[in-house]
Amino acid sequence: MLPFMSPLAGKIIWLIGVIGWFVIRYPHDRRSRRTAKTRRDVGPREFFSLAVSTLGLGIVPAIYVFAGLPRFADYPFSIFQAIAGAAVFGFALWLFYRTHKDLGRNWSVTLEVRDEHKLVTNGVYNRVRHPMYSAFWLWALAQAIVLPNWFAGLAGLVGFGTLFFLRVGNEEKMMADTFGDEYRDYMKRTARIIPGIY
Ligand code: SAH
Repeated sequence: MLPFMSPLAGKIIWLIGVIGWFVIRYPHDRRSRRTAKTRRDVGPREFFSLAVSTLGLGIVPAIYVFAGLPRFADYPFSIFQAIAGAAVFGFALWLFYRTHKDLGRNWSVTLEVRDEHKLVTNGVYNRVRHPMYSAFWLWALAQAIVLPNWFAGLAGLVGFGTLFFLRVGNEEKMMADTFGDEYRDYMKRTARIIPGIY
């Protein structure tokens, strides 16, 4: 018999994680709005990606957490899920914090190149080109572990996965157009999201 506990514990872990995420991002979001941009991609594809990702990582799980829907997808919540989910969430938040520190002024929600954009290749960017996306994948994974509801749990992986695969190729092309061989060399010695693997 697995030791089960109330799904409320999973919901609380999810809420703490999301609040932590907002606290980390807030100052960067404010600064980002104030910095001048040279190039900006907010076409329909970017808009769609951001919408699907927000739905899967935010809106669908929030409906589950606050309204308990959809009920048909509920399953029992084990204590191992609570422990593993909290650990993955913690790791995601740490990595998210680090990526914001390392990217600094070069960060933005959509694909943009700033007037004084610098290519960051240090810190968590040393071995992986998209550590912030790694952090989002970890968040989506934590959501799947910590919410005992198939629909709300998996929505994050589907939502963020859509954004990731629609965006990552464009982002790398934009960076290569802007930084040329400097970025192409950087691509040769780094992985996309998992050090040494992908
Ligand atoms: N893909 C990165 C960054 C996400 S934020 C990650 O997952 O960590 C998106 C913005 O970051 C893009 O608009 C791009 O201009 C910028 N960016 C991406 N990689 C960068 C790098 N290595 N150095 C500087 N800016 C970068």
